[in-house]
Amino acid sequence: MTSALAPETLIATAGVCEDSAHHSVSPPLHLSANYFWSDPCEKPHYDYARSGNPTRTQLEEALAKLEGGARGVIVSSGMAAVDLVLNLVDPGDVVLAPHDCYGGTHRLLTARAKRGQFEVVYVNQGDPVALAAAFAKTPKLVLIETPSNPLLRITDIAAVVAHAKAVNAITVADNTFLSPALQRPLELGCDVVIHSTTKFINGHSDVVGGAVIAREAALGEDLAWWANCTGVTGAPFDSFMTLRGLRTLFPRIERQQATAKDVVEALTQDERVANVFYPGLKTHPGHDVAARQQAGFGSMFSVEFTAEVDVLQLLRGLKIFTIAESLGGFESLVCVPAAMTHAAMTPEARATAGISDRLVRFSIGLEHGVDLIRDVLDALDGAAADDKVAYLKHEAVGACA
Ligand code: PLP
Repeated sequence: MTSALAPETLIATAGVCEDSAHHSVSPPLHLSANYFWSDPCEKPHYDYARSGNPTRTQLEEALAKLEGGARGVIVSSGMAAVDLVLNLVDPGDVVLAPHDCYGGTHRLLTARAKRGQFEVVYVNQGDPVALAAAFAKTPKLVLIETPSNPLLRITDIAAVVAHAKAVNAITVADNTFLSPALQRPLELGCDVVIHSTTKFINGHSDVVGGAVIAREAALGEDLAWWANCTGVTGAPFDSFMTLRGLRTLFPRIERQQATAKDVVEALTQDERVANVFYPGLKTHPGHDVAARQQAGFGSMFSVEFTAEVDVLQLLRGLKIFTIAESLGGFESLVCVPAAMTHAAMTPEARATAGISDRLVRFSIGLEHGVDLIRDVLDALDGAAADDKVAYLKHEAVGACA
């Protein structure tokens, strides 16, 4: 961290008692689109809210401090954050991305590459041989997503950064799944961290937003320039809500990951569970790296059930978990990535990434673990497949999701 204050203190004090106009303790919300000039020759610090806004600045500064960066840029969504960093590459440049990244990121990279804006190379970043071969293409920008969505694969950030530095590539880490409470990629050598603040950062499932934080001020200014130029900067109200949600990041994360550990423990003991993808398990291939580079294992995991389980029935039977696409909120959510979050990937791309139609992703919220475990076990009891056709079919889930 660049600041002497503990991150918990940074969050609790961000923007507090900064209102010189009315001395409000909590930061006010500035909605004005315009800021007046006292004189035509004196440009005020804020002039137009797309370019800059005091409420957005408070969130940008809080997140930059939390991630240990020099400059934050708040944008309108996590996808806007991914897209913003793509302004750093030119036609002919290679972008290296994880083969199992978030489906929306995969869609964006593939679509932009198709239009010739750069070349995209997808690689299993956990495979040292494949990674070395991919770096032989001298990428200009490397995107890391760890843990990955939805398979919770762990990428050794420092190892990828070492490769990237050797070819002068910019390293961008999507830290959405952990938040700066559990992982700080800039300290491991990344140049940029991005977030879907929709998830843990806001944590209350009522804002869609994104953040881009650069380690160096010059790169941060470049990204802020592009955000203003393309108009993807976030709305002030969203920043106000997100800063409010951010205040409770640490207690939320601590509680959610403790509950996730309990739910995982219960599920691994059930014979109807074929495989649990959770970096906190010693059997997880990325466990050691995760233990080294993360401050905790987080509250996301995915499960493959045995063929005896009708996954559709399982989801229908859940009473506390909600079937929804997002993650990282106060409420426990469940989704089938093949039909929901990763439906934009082709079946071939999903197969390459290892995302089966039977995979179920869980996001653990703030409910009591005992209730969550009972919810899944009860739903499993009612989800015995009476027909092998009950194997999850993409179309079937798509129709009912
Ligand atoms: N990155 C990751 C890892 C995600 O999981 C998501 C969304 O689920 C995004 C980026 C995109 O964020 P948003 O939905 O806020 O655009």
